Amino acid sequence: MIQLLGDQSCARCPALVASRCRIVHGYGDPSSRIVFIGEAPGRHGADRTGVPFSGDKSGRALQRILIDLGMSEDQQPNDQPQLRCFVTNIVRCCPPANRTPTLREQASCAPFLAAELDTIDPQIIVPIGILALRAVARRYLGEAPRAIRPLHAIPIYRAGCVIVPLIHPSRISYAQIAAFVTAMQRVIEPLRH
Ligand code: URA
Repeated sequence: MIQLLGDQSCARCPALVASRCRIVHGYGDPSSRIVFIGEAPGRHGADRTGVPFSGDKSGRALQRILIDLGMSEDQQPNDQPQLRCFVTNIVRCCPPANRTPTLREQASCAPFLAAELDTIDPQIIVPIGILALRAVARRYLGEAPRAIRPLHAIPIYRAGCVIVPLIHPSRISYAQIAAFVTAMQRVIEPLRH
């Protein structure tokens, strides 16, 4: 498993420098060309483990989805997941009290995500939650949607890549997970041949 970026010294956002345990970069298999993008490391999860979406409720929910899609193996709770995709966040540091990252923090952190996306050149992008959807839409679609719910699990085809929005696992229902898994299976299938 690979972390494409290693920077642990960024000090662009004073509030995040004060609140983070570590800077958490994306993790997984960049050669899969499938990228899941969340919001920011969770206080009880990625900020502690150093791996996006691990060690907390959101992490377990995403891990179940990845297992259903054949992109991760069932694993022991403390193991680092072996992924057949890449999982990252738009913001690399856990905000104070798990608050939403500010627009300024999102903009300051944008070069890290841009560097990962430039390297991976993804065929499938899954923005997780509205902040990630807006960041992905700005880069690939040139416009930012107001809400994610109407777009959940609906593939958006662009030259060279497909974007499949996912409601954040902290706010998702079982039916919405099932709809997403079905949509992703349809998107992945033709790329396997
Ligand atoms: N953990 C992450 O790494 N990102 C999120 O958006 C939520 C939990």
